[in-house]
Amino acid sequence: MPHTLDPELRRALAARIRYYNEMGIYDFYRRPPSVQAAEVATPVAVEEQEVVISANAVSTNQPESREEMSPRKTAAAPTPVAIEENIFGTSAPKPEQNVNDPVKALKIIRNDLGNCTRCDLHKGRKNIVFGVGDSKAELMFVGEGPGADEDETGEPFVGRAGQLLNNMIKAMGIEREQVYIANIVKCRPPSNRTPEREECDTCSPFLMRQIAVVKPKVIVALGATAAKTLLAMNSSMIQLRGRFYDFKPASVQSNDPSWDGCKLAVTYHPAFLLRDPRQKSEAWKDLQMVMKELGLKPPAKSAQ
Ligand code: SF4
Repeated sequence: MPHTLDPELRRALAARIRYYNEMGIYDFYRRPPSVQAAEVATPVAVEEQEVVISANAVSTNQPESREEMSPRKTAAAPTPVAIEENIFGTSAPKPEQNVNDPVKALKIIRNDLGNCTRCDLHKGRKNIVFGVGDSKAELMFVGEGPGADEDETGEPFVGRAGQLLNNMIKAMGIEREQVYIANIVKCRPPSNRTPEREECDTCSPFLMRQIAVVKPKVIVALGATAAKTLLAMNSSMIQLRGRFYDFKPASVQSNDPSWDGCKLAVTYHPAFLLRDPRQKSEAWKDLQMVMKELGLKPPAKSAQ
């Protein structure tokens, strides 16, 4: 009988499973707290369509007796991965959850982050770039990570890409101060490289908490790293753009029970648009979709 998983846990579990799949690991077993992993081999049932848990990645001539007794009658991969029940920490309440003032709640998260050394990105940073903007914003932009200018100032999107983002926001008929802006990772990756998956996984729980505090109506993921991390999907930008996704931060409860997540759209990162301005018209289509959702009208002079 399949286990019924909480949607947030399922999203996080799906992301972790894809990560293992990409490493060539396809078999997963749940380890009950009171039983040694060697004594059990209960396949984890995941109903998400894109995740396939297969037991036939590696065939062996002499399967263990447990597999022979299994209804699937298939051979197991040599190294099953035991997934702990509490690996995603879904049950731990966050300290900001009982705080109604979003400014104070964000400060609590920032204090919790502290002088963070949770991943290697702390080694080269000058400043942690936490996030900026209206703590009650209806619209939130999430980028990939800080660049040199952001590292210097501690504020996201202040360099050339930031100027373009400001123009994009203005073209939507609003000001930068009316939105909330953050990144998947809060420290600058060396030489502006793409953050590693492990770094994204380590840092993004703080972003999830920020989202749960701000409670936007729409999130715009800027670029593939932001989109793939937030959606736990490994698709191309062409596949990801052009539609809304239902989004709820993984493993975090909002302090507002009436907030049941938001919509998420994907568009190109402004830094990419600086390199390939021909894609600006495509990005504008994405933003128009968001504007329609939020009832925004472009200022007359900025309309394209
Ligand atoms: Fe901590 Fe995030 Fe910086 Fe890594 S990127 S050190 S997790 S704040």
